[in-house]
Amino acid sequence: MIEPPSDPSWLPTPQVAVAQLASGILEYAQQTASGDAFRLPYPANLQLALDRLTLLAWHQDAPAPASVVELLQLAQEPFGDWKIDLTDADVDPDESLLIYGRPTATCEELGSFRGDVEGEIRENALLRAVMDKARAANAPRSYVAFRELLIRQPAIAAIELDARLADPDLALLANEVRQAYVEAPPEAMADGVIRTCGGCGGLRLPLDDDRTWMCEDQSCPASGTAGADHPASEGVWWLRRELCTFITAPGRAELRIADAIRKLGIPVALWPNFDACDISIFVDRPWVADIKAWRNPVRLARRLRERLFTVPPEAERAYVVVGQEQVKAHPRYVARLRQACPQVRPGRRIVAVSEAEFIGAVKRRVEAGA
Ligand SMILES: [Zn+2]
Repeated sequence: MIEPPSDPSWLPTPQVAVAQLASGILEYAQQTASGDAFRLPYPANLQLALDRLTLLAWHQDAPAPASVVELLQLAQEPFGDWKIDLTDADVDPDESLLIYGRPTATCEELGSFRGDVEGEIRENALLRAVMDKARAANAPRSYVAFRELLIRQPAIAAIELDARLADPDLALLANEVRQAYVEAPPEAMADGVIRTCGGCGGLRLPLDDDRTWMCEDQSCPASGTAGADHPASEGVWWLRRELCTFITAPGRAELRIADAIRKLGIPVALWPNFDACDISIFVDRPWVADIKAWRNPVRLARRLRERLFTVPPEAERAYVVVGQEQVKAHPRYVARLRQACPQVRPGRRIVAVSEAEFIGAVKRRVEAGA
């Protein structure tokens, strides 16, 4: 990394300091979720982030957080309100790392050094086990069934999960499916029921006032909608957080796009060849696409500059498709992505487009009868 000449070599970059803070918060959240609440010491990444941000603050003559507790308070504030200048940290002013004491999607994107679905699938022990087992059994349908279950049902009643596992495709991966879920947390229970979200199928959790129930998935397409209430006594499972981020959130767009294209009468393969890409459509001269649900186009651009998916030689076209939630939330998302990642500009082998543009292009090919 080339640093501006005015900055001394000991000065950390805002990008690294913020990524370290995000990692520390994720570790801390994991610790507290696993029951060892608030045990000291704090994760090393939090302490290191404090050191680095303190150096940055001193260098900028800005107030520095005095302790990890203050650092965690700072993490609740939108970056635009920080007194420390975060230029080049790839964050937007309205983003923050924590909301209601829980890590945000931004935090997950910044703090997971791999940070993308494909990377996570290779690195995550559970997902690797799923992939290995499905491959060894030559059972691509089991792999697809596993992904679909996690996307469609981030929360599931215990009895329903048992029923789903009787499905022959899923039965192969029953152990792995069970490992993907944890028990719904105690705070999700009130009045004997566990509330789900109609928008994403996840859980709704209470805000501090204990009366407002919120879907905590920030990429939820309809977080205000109530879903089914399950009796708490019957048991409800909840998908592990990292799987929600890397499988469920991007997966919603994947399934929606697949459904829209199937309606046109076009065959669709999801995660073909055990995840070579997200979707392959048309049998002759196929089009392939990776579907991305990153909140921030600049962070996605950085990831794509590091690694793009491999386009099979027979593919006629290849796309990076940005989900409609992201395009809606971020003005000029696709333009900013192309600007920051020249490898996906029009004319290149892989082109970045919005979900609507992608489906429009498919429709045009269908109408042209090609
Ligand atoms: Zn939701």
